[in-house]
Amino acid sequence: MSRSRHPEVHRSDRLGWLRAAVLGANDGIVSVAGLVVGIAASGAPASTVLATGVAGTVAGAMSMAAGEYVSVQSQADAEHADLTVERRELHEDPHSELDELTAIYRHRGLSPELAREVAVQLTAHDALAAHARDELGITEEMRARPIQAAAASAAAFIAGAALPVLTALLAPHAHVAQITTVSTLVGLCITGALAAQAGGAAPVRGAVRVMFWGALAMAAAAAIGRLFNAAL
Ligand SMILES: [Zn+2]
Repeated sequence: MSRSRHPEVHRSDRLGWLRAAVLGANDGIVSVAGLVVGIAASGAPASTVLATGVAGTVAGAMSMAAGEYVSVQSQADAEHADLTVERRELHEDPHSELDELTAIYRHRGLSPELAREVAVQLTAHDALAAHARDELGITEEMRARPIQAAAASAAAFIAGAALPVLTALLAPHAHVAQITTVSTLVGLCITGALAAQAGGAAPVRGAVRVMFWGALAMAAAAAIGRLFNAAL
């Protein structure tokens, strides 16, 4: 066991964006593969299968971006409101704010004198930044960024959806449903293992879990497609 790499230091930073990216890719693989498999099983021509895959990719990416934007924007709004209140308090009652900051540093283990000194110096340096960071927990690196979050979600979805779209494009039409199902399960095996590893869990269990749900989705899509094939 090597202790020099300190994996525990980086895991939490890496977890956030990698988890989000892998979940978005999973979403893209499963939902677009489901469309491709279902439409192919219904007996639709190759051009319809491909068009469905592409339309599903565009719609899914937009939906992911919109959902992520709204969610992260509301977080950004809350941060903005907190900072506005803090700025006003600093302006109206700087003395109480200095006491508040001192109490925070004492609570973290500094002696009363040192806590006061740190609070005084940080207030002189950038009072709002000190209160944002140490009172509200808002740092520049952790600020909510709605546009970036939306773009990242859409990109992750598209990266995942590219797999079933490519199989719809390249696989012989008679076997599109089967080949898409297999490539989906292989893709999910990789993303499931990656997600588990990023979270410090066992990769095999993560892969199996994601593949199970993917297989279920493919089976449901194929069954519904066949229903239409039989009815028409
Ligand atoms: Zn404050």
